[in-house]
Amino acid sequence: MRLLTSSLIIASAIAFAGGGLAALPWRVLGPAPAWAQGSTHVKTMPTTTPPAPAPKPRSETKSPAPPAPVGPVVADGASVSGDRSLTRMAVELTGPVEYQVFRLQAPDRVVIDISNVEFTIPPATGRNGIGLVTSFRFGAFAPGRARVVIETDGSVQVEATRLIREGSRGRHRLELDFIPASTAGLSESEIAAARESAARLRLSDATPPSPPPAAKPAPDAPRVPLIMIDPGHGGVDSGARGAIGVEKDIVLAVGRELERALLASGKYRVLMTRSSDAFVPLEQRIRLSREHEAQLFISLHADSLEARELAHAIRGATIYTLSQSASDERARKLADKENAADLLAGAHLPTEVSQDDVKSILFDLMARETNGLALNFRQIAAKRLRGSIQLSRDPQRSANFLVLRQSETPAVLIELGYISNTEEEKQMLSQEWQRKVAASITAAINDFFATSGSIFR
Ligand code: ZN
Repeated sequence: MRLLTSSLIIASAIAFAGGGLAALPWRVLGPAPAWAQGSTHVKTMPTTTPPAPAPKPRSETKSPAPPAPVGPVVADGASVSGDRSLTRMAVELTGPVEYQVFRLQAPDRVVIDISNVEFTIPPATGRNGIGLVTSFRFGAFAPGRARVVIETDGSVQVEATRLIREGSRGRHRLELDFIPASTAGLSESEIAAARESAARLRLSDATPPSPPPAAKPAPDAPRVPLIMIDPGHGGVDSGARGAIGVEKDIVLAVGRELERALLASGKYRVLMTRSSDAFVPLEQRIRLSREHEAQLFISLHADSLEARELAHAIRGATIYTLSQSASDERARKLADKENAADLLAGAHLPTEVSQDDVKSILFDLMARETNGLALNFRQIAAKRLRGSIQLSRDPQRSANFLVLRQSETPAVLIELGYISNTEEEKQMLSQEWQRKVAASITAAINDFFATSGSIFR
């Protein structure tokens, strides 16, 4: 028998996997609410075991223990149902899990942290919500910990949380019920829980898989430049979501192609801020670049347009450098969106970024000519990419991207295209396109070091 305790902040519920010790605050719902009986409001995402619109008969875990699941528990379905008066989020699981639930504000979210679970739910699931849930995303958050981030329309209260065993095969369903919050504020204990979760990610105890060590040159070998490739987002932070794919997968695929092309040239060492579907906070990406003294930092992203009616018309790649004030309104909004990656993943609570810090970094950049080099690379990259893929109307822009705040390393952020444009998304998902992009960026890096190489340490 295995005892699984979950320290729940909001709704307290503890489930036993093995059964027998059920003297716990197990909250069993009464009859299915009216909204769950019909099918009109029930939205089901693809699952291998489709969740029924109405709650299925539940068994408390007093019956004989199910066979222990082999391997990690898999989350293979997720669904939202109900309406604005009561919205239910359900996660289908192949076994029991430990979990923790808390709310975050600005923007309003409910976070479920789940231990040792893998997701096989299609990545685009959760783009559209229902009732109080506007969307949700899921994925790895830290080693041994996954996260579901549920964005809600305004502040909600988690009215009930339960882990239900279903059938005899050990499957479980994790359900959360949301109702509109009467008061906007979070309780002290919720704030404490969110802080604790953020603190646990503070890198010493929960570092995402580190990139492999840079290929160390032999003592006598000439030191070749180190290129840091930064595929954006990852894990629970999926980035922009298209009709089929998600930003995090596209940029990782391009990043891997770029790594391959650069290593094949024999001219560079290469490190990636992430080489798997892991969540890596922005701060850690910058730290990796600094610690390894990267000589060029390339962040890869894909953009998406909120306005669906314009989506078919807007496409093409854009290369960004750092600037305190954005080159245009669209660039400013984009930087805000990309900078919110950690926030949306619930990796830290909103904090005021000191404008003084930004100024001093920018001053530093100017002093070191790092920014000049970044501008130089931006121009070269635009030229090379123009030869292989479509560029946006104004492909060289600047904005205040957190991940580009590096005083020692010229850094650019490339938005490879618009995932909101169906045609462009299809291209971006093809390996042929990904290789073409990688080849063009490699050519740009060659040009860059051929002209600027001598000034590097
Ligand atoms: Zn992005």
